[in-house]
Amino acid sequence: MGLIEIEDISRTYKDGQVSVKAIKQISIEIADGDFVSIMGPSGSGKSTLMNIIGCLDKPSSGSYKLAGQQVHKLNDSQLATIRNEFMGFVFQQFHLISKLNALENVELPLIYQGVIGKERKKRALEALESVGLGERAKHMPSQLSGGEQQRVAIARAIVSNPKLILADEPTGALDSKSSKNIMSIFQKLNRERKITIVQVTHERDIGEYGNHIYNIKDGEIDCIEEIKHTETENN
Ligand code: ADP
Ligand code: ADP
Repeated sequence: MGLIEIEDISRTYKDGQVSVKAIKQISIEIADGDFVSIMGPSGSGKSTLMNIIGCLDKPSSGSYKLAGQQVHKLNDSQLATIRNEFMGFVFQQFHLISKLNALENVELPLIYQGVIGKERKKRALEALESVGLGERAKHMPSQLSGGEQQRVAIARAIVSNPKLILADEPTGALDSKSSKNIMSIFQKLNRERKITIVQVTHERDIGEYGNHIYNIKDGEIDCIEEIKHTETENN
């Protein structure tokens, strides 16, 4: 059974008289523990699909089951609960709060969950350590490189032990060395902590860090590729 089971979903945007069919009857099943890269030209429907998978938007038709729950039937506050309990989000532009230091940024999801002070600091520090930033806990975002800021964002995404990480162009603002570092962290989280990862990327070499590449074209799945990784591959 898939962690994500999407059946025949479409999403149409209505803008006055004009309606745009951004995704057209897509069916996909993503297994628990998979690492999927979604690729495709600009305007092909990647963001729309990611927004639906991330429970930020609902399909116009079709069904979406997440871990057996029919999420397309839930209301906005139920969807918010699913997002908080189930998912961590990583964005191209990191989206850190500039007035909070690295540790405080990572603590944020735990504040929303009502985790109290000491336990919260401990868990946030563990998350920072797991992305190699234990020494940077007191740094402000402006004192960190782009790659380091993205690692803080990943720590924030994993601090609440999500089943699923959704990443929209996670390396889009990074140089190639930092990009590889971020992908190594994703592979490690995927392999060692069994976190399912779905990322959107424009870069083929970044996409290939995943186990599957879903190529989207004109709102439809064009083809799914399986990427073989060798046993000895570094991570
Ligand atoms: P991608 O992420 O692959 O660039 P999008 O999902 O953003 O693709 O867009 C798919 C199509 O839907 C495009 O034609 C885009 O212009 C349109 N679209 C996306 N979001 C909206 C919106 N909020 N309102 C109207 N049209 C939209
Ligand atoms: P990104 O590079 O993050 O995919 P986009 O330019 O595709 O950025 O979209 C930025 C925002 O604009 C998104 O919230 C998307 O839903 C919205 N959007 C995209 N295309 C359209 C459109 N044709 N009409 C209205 N909103 C759109």
